[in-house]
Amino acid sequence: MKRVGRADTAPEMAVRRHLHRRGFRYRLHVRDLPGTPDIVLPRYRTVVFVHGCFWHGHDCPHGVARARSNADYWNGKIEQNRRRDESKVDAVRELGWNVEVVWECEAGDPRELARLERRIGRRMRR
Ligand SMILES: [Zn+2]
Repeated sequence: MKRVGRADTAPEMAVRRHLHRRGFRYRLHVRDLPGTPDIVLPRYRTVVFVHGCFWHGHDCPHGVARARSNADYWNGKIEQNRRRDESKVDAVRELGWNVEVVWECEAGDPRELARLERRIGRRMRR
């Protein structure tokens, strides 16, 4: 399965920096989990996928709304990616992991990052 976009994108770095500052420790691009999740927090049994809005079809001004020119081509591609994303999420969940998705347009927003942090924190293993 080919990765969509490259590793270590700016939004991903922003999420990583935030989590690290807040004391979360993680592994990156773990290949032994389905879909090679971007950020894996074993202590919280949680993985985080950081998705680019355009390629992963986010319903926001950077995503779906941009795919208007050459619409059939892009929509086909993006639809494929969305389906692939869904099956990755399902596969990781089936192994008992919690899955969080952070969109590119949210990665720089402190409120979104605080929300992510709370969701991860709730999953702490005791
Ligand atoms: Zn977006």
